[in-house]
Amino acid sequence: MPRPRVLSGVQPTGALHLGNWLGAIRNWVNLQDSHDTFFCVVDLHAITVPHDPEQLAADTRKTAALYLAAGIDPSRSTVFVQSHVPAHSELAWLLNCVTPLNWLERMIQFKEKAIKQGDQVSVGLLDYPVLMAADILLYDADLVPVGEDQKQHLELARDIAQQRINARFGQKDADGEPIPVLKVPEPLILKEGARVMSLTDGRSKMSKSDPNEGSRITLLDPPELITKKIKRAKTDPVMGLEFGNPERPETDNLLGLYAILSGKGREAVAAECAAMGWGTFKPLLAEAAVEALRPLQQRYAELSADPAELDRVLAGGRERAQSVAQATLDRTRAALGFLPVH
Ligand code: AMP
Repeated sequence: MPRPRVLSGVQPTGALHLGNWLGAIRNWVNLQDSHDTFFCVVDLHAITVPHDPEQLAADTRKTAALYLAAGIDPSRSTVFVQSHVPAHSELAWLLNCVTPLNWLERMIQFKEKAIKQGDQVSVGLLDYPVLMAADILLYDADLVPVGEDQKQHLELARDIAQQRINARFGQKDADGEPIPVLKVPEPLILKEGARVMSLTDGRSKMSKSDPNEGSRITLLDPPELITKKIKRAKTDPVMGLEFGNPERPETDNLLGLYAILSGKGREAVAAECAAMGWGTFKPLLAEAAVEALRPLQQRYAELSADPAELDRVLAGGRERAQSVAQATLDRTRAALGFLPVH
């Protein structure tokens, strides 16, 4: 039995933060032993909002290096850059032509991002989820580990594969069983860490695009900065920390972060902090965050000192990704009736 296939990716826009790590990348690391794992840096997605060319290249390298620093092992996982495999753009076009416009217009992330762009919204921003569907479907992924916010995009990828490609263009075998063109993927959303909230507002999620840097802890923040951000994090005047009180979203978030980063788990920290004041809690959380990130930051520093090594990893990843992606693209082209290349 081949191992189930996993694909995921993160955009190379700005510094990765605790939400990206706990909600996505950290979970990828554990899947490497049991799954056939593909992880890409989705640079084509990064240009769906205005971007700076120099920054894009630098952030693409940085994001790939952070994957490795976080524990993605290129001898067990295929690590690559999305734009290095042209099949992503090509399958996205094929999928575009079968995806109803109104499916895209109702995407929550599009609506949220579009508000910020006014009349400058690009066609690419609307099309973002179709490119994401192409990323996933090209690799016949069984599972897609993402944070809670990507669930709607996953549903869309499933609907495109099932209703718009397989149902319309799939063939039947001798027994009348459908032969799918594209594999229909499942989301993998782990509860713990699925939604890390902002340090300055417990009701909105930690995000790269929040103008206030104090709202997030990035994976490369030095210890003093981590401590400072946690010290300034929003709290409330109530004594003692608890989970699940809707009046205290900041408390829930910070206690949840402590549970994960300290490795103690929710039950233990709920007991430990039930009567604790903020002045005692915050230094504990800061220390847990600094310690949890220390090994990652150390590996990142080593990788930064050897850029040729990262280039080698990405070249090897591109080669493997390309061969898998091309086979799916050829299959889809054939199903849609394109004249084969001779
Ligand atoms: P993005 O930063 O939007 O490129 O997201 C990259 C990955 O990180 C996706 O799988 C997201 O679901 C995940 N992610 C982003 N922000 C958070 C957050 N605040 N909490 C949990 N997961 C997140």
